[in-house]
Amino acid sequence: MAQYNVTYLCGHKEIVRLFGPGDGRRAELARLGRLDCPNCYKKRRDAEHKAEAAEAAIKAQDLGLPQLVGSEKQIVWAESLRAAALASPTNTLIPEDKAVLDTPEKKGLYDIAKAARKQLETEISSKWWIDNRSNLCRYVVQCMADARNDWFKGLTGEEVK
Ligand SMILES: [Zn+2]
Repeated sequence: MAQYNVTYLCGHKEIVRLFGPGDGRRAELARLGRLDCPNCYKKRRDAEHKAEAAEAAIKAQDLGLPQLVGSEKQIVWAESLRAAALASPTNTLIPEDKAVLDTPEKKGLYDIAKAARKQLETEISSKWWIDNRSNLCRYVVQCMADARNDWFKGLTGEEVK
């Protein structure tokens, strides 16, 4: 192990400890020299997130979406999650008059999809958006799949494979 002075791309200097063979250390030093320091990186990333969120907030307002609630940090994050979720094709429904709803099951699934879409459009809790983030871009289809699975279980006692 040894300590090295690194000058980052942003001009800030820092002492770093590096391990391993000399070649690896030189490569790591060169790599660090092409980056901003952790502080500047974080500042820039935070600023980018804020700018993204501000843009998303303006779009949200244009779309008539409700104002999100939560801490400033949560809102920044949730605003981006909401924008991506609402734009996702698997969360987008064709209009009811164009949908083929010729069986009660299709009609039922469409109603569930509509309710799920409505939840995305009206959910104001930033915490909800953050808690559900792994599933948001296919939220509507997932709600339909879950409902279908429940019905199937009700009929047969088994899950849809
Ligand atoms: Zn810096």
